[in-house]
Amino acid sequence: LKQQLIKAEKLKAVEQMGAAISHEIRNPLTAASGFVQLLQDDYLPRHKRKEYLAIVQEELCSAEKVIQDYLTFAKPSMEKYEELNVKKELKQIISILKPLSNQYSVEILTDFSLIGTIRGDQQLFRQCFVNVIKNAIEAMPNGGTLKVTTEYRQNSITIKVKDTGIGMTPQQIQRLGEPFYSTKGKNGTGLGMMVVYSITRAMSGSIWVESEVGVGTTFYFKFPAYTFSMKAANEKTDGIK
Ligand code: ADP
Ligand code: MG
Repeated sequence: LKQQLIKAEKLKAVEQMGAAISHEIRNPLTAASGFVQLLQDDYLPRHKRKEYLAIVQEELCSAEKVIQDYLTFAKPSMEKYEELNVKKELKQIISILKPLSNQYSVEILTDFSLIGTIRGDQQLFRQCFVNVIKNAIEAMPNGGTLKVTTEYRQNSITIKVKDTGIGMTPQQIQRLGEPFYSTKGKNGTGLGMMVVYSITRAMSGSIWVESEVGVGTTFYFKFPAYTFSMKAANEKTDGIK
């Protein structure tokens, strides 16, 4: 009975979240649509036209951000748990984020000293680490180094994401994962970490954070290992350029 109760509560939370998200997407779309209507006026002065077009673009951009943090890899199908090659997945995610890291002058270093697998849903895994790594890059507006490493210990695979960015205060760390909590103003959604926490929990993983303002932040993710094998030592460091 207790379990069922938890399930019902979970479902309710998911429904509420879904409603909040669609609100977050619908609002800017409605605004954009309103301004498109105004733009249909043939006698609209040129400067007004420009102003409205800028608003439309901003509103569309804001809807796109919510989709990126929350729905990028979402498929209408149910979660599919399979064996995931951690190294392969992380490499794929890093290549997706290459343009962003270039834009921020962030160098990405990797060390995947094991070839291990975990059980999880590939799309959710990608969504989770895209959000984490995106945050790390965004925390380094003047460039820096991002290190993504994996480790195997006591039947667990640890994924470490370390940045040399702006860091967080203890109060900020406390609020991580709270829906709509963001320090990025209109450039943030505050949904990324919420998604990260819920996906990690769904994959029986856990999260630690170490952070120091002005020094950087390290996120640790620990997942139960499904299989693993150590890599040859001479292959140990592989920087992705
Ligand atoms: P968003 O990125 O849209 O602001 P997130 O949920 O992804 O929302 O992150 C919430 C907040 O957590 C960010 O606004 C930022 O303040 C903080 N944060 C997350 N990751 C980092 C990081 N690597 N370094 C510094 N701050 C971070
Ligand atoms: Mg984010």
